[in-house]
Amino acid sequence: MSDVLWIRNGRVVDPANHRDEPGDLFAVDGLLVESLSRAQKKSARVIDAAGLVVAPGFVDIHVHLREPGQTHKESIATGSRAAAAGGFTTIVCMPNTAPPADNVGTIQQIQDAIRRDAVVNVHPTGCITRNMAGEALANIGSLRKVGIVAITDDGRCVQNNEIMRRALEYAHMFNLPVMDHCQDASLTEEAVMNEGCWSLRLGLKGWPNAAEDIIVSRNTILAAYTQASIHMQHISSRYAVSLIRRAKARGIPISAEASPHHIALTDESCRFYDTNFKMNPPVREEIDRQAIIEGLLDGTLDCIATDHAPHTDYEKDMEFDRAPFGVIGMETALAVSLENLVHAGHCDLPFLISLMTAKPSQILRLGKGTLSPGAEADICVFDPDESWVVDSDRFQSRSANCPWNGQRLRGRARFTLVRGRLVWDGQQILDPDG
Ligand SMILES: [Zn+2]
Repeated sequence: MSDVLWIRNGRVVDPANHRDEPGDLFAVDGLLVESLSRAQKKSARVIDAAGLVVAPGFVDIHVHLREPGQTHKESIATGSRAAAAGGFTTIVCMPNTAPPADNVGTIQQIQDAIRRDAVVNVHPTGCITRNMAGEALANIGSLRKVGIVAITDDGRCVQNNEIMRRALEYAHMFNLPVMDHCQDASLTEEAVMNEGCWSLRLGLKGWPNAAEDIIVSRNTILAAYTQASIHMQHISSRYAVSLIRRAKARGIPISAEASPHHIALTDESCRFYDTNFKMNPPVREEIDRQAIIEGLLDGTLDCIATDHAPHTDYEKDMEFDRAPFGVIGMETALAVSLENLVHAGHCDLPFLISLMTAKPSQILRLGKGTLSPGAEADICVFDPDESWVVDSDRFQSRSANCPWNGQRLRGRARFTLVRGRLVWDGQQILDPDG
């Protein structure tokens, strides 16, 4: 007998199909369908979505799952559960694992773990250069064959322009997107927070906007020259936003993302030396935060991506200059984005949903992020107004390095479904094997 799903009485929002209306959503055997027969309705599993938003499952094209090598921080099992709890049904993991995912064996190991342990769709990326050392290209063609969806040296930007040019040309031949973490390393040696009056006051080494702006400029020049597209990760600088805006106006094939912490926080948040506000690139000034929001609103920045970066408490619990960079993000991304974009009056709900579904999916050509009939029933049902207090000890993620811990936020995923199967019910993960 077929498996029938009926989500009733919700506000169905599917930006890719310009749909925003009260209604129902149906799926049969994991695929969305237009309607159900009377007999199908009788046998359906029913989810009551009254007062809730029914959206495509969110897509996060920038997460760190730490497997293989650092599963004390996170694993494909725990990271994919954190995704489900945050309403994400498709995530893309970065290759800066230990060892780095620069070879077929490591990618296959990741793919095996995904098949075995993941509760949402997980797609791996591969390195641009061998060992992420920035010196010689990885074997991009063979990585493509084992299913990577993009290449990136995220965390260690390729500094050599010739190598970056070759990477773009090769990736273009294989029709593989290139993602870049834009950071000129010579400008950020020992830097730990944004360079400005707060770094001066706190006595911490500053990280100038220029470190990002220079690489964003380099990338737009190389993208124009090679006609290969580059996706620029976690943009933090106001100047970078305007560089990308002008390059796009000239038709250069680039895209870019913003992370929830860069639309929510400024460098003032480092004032108590709390290492849960130490990230790469750093949170910057209010004028940068505003520029990033404007960039999302006018399409300069294409999507939201969390840069979910788990670290244990014993790693984060040390002096600000010595702690690792990064914060976790998947279990707060919806609430933080709602608060700073929708509840703050910058955009409506369908626009935010597009930034977290169809748009990121398009960048990496994942074919996700819509509620079109025939698509896999990857769905997030959420309450945009539910008020809750963040308790990172109760997260699905193995790590708790969250800058919003203890704070009250609004907006929470109530049901997350992958191919029609309920994996998160608002309280717990429903394990397929359990
Ligand atoms: Zn990065």
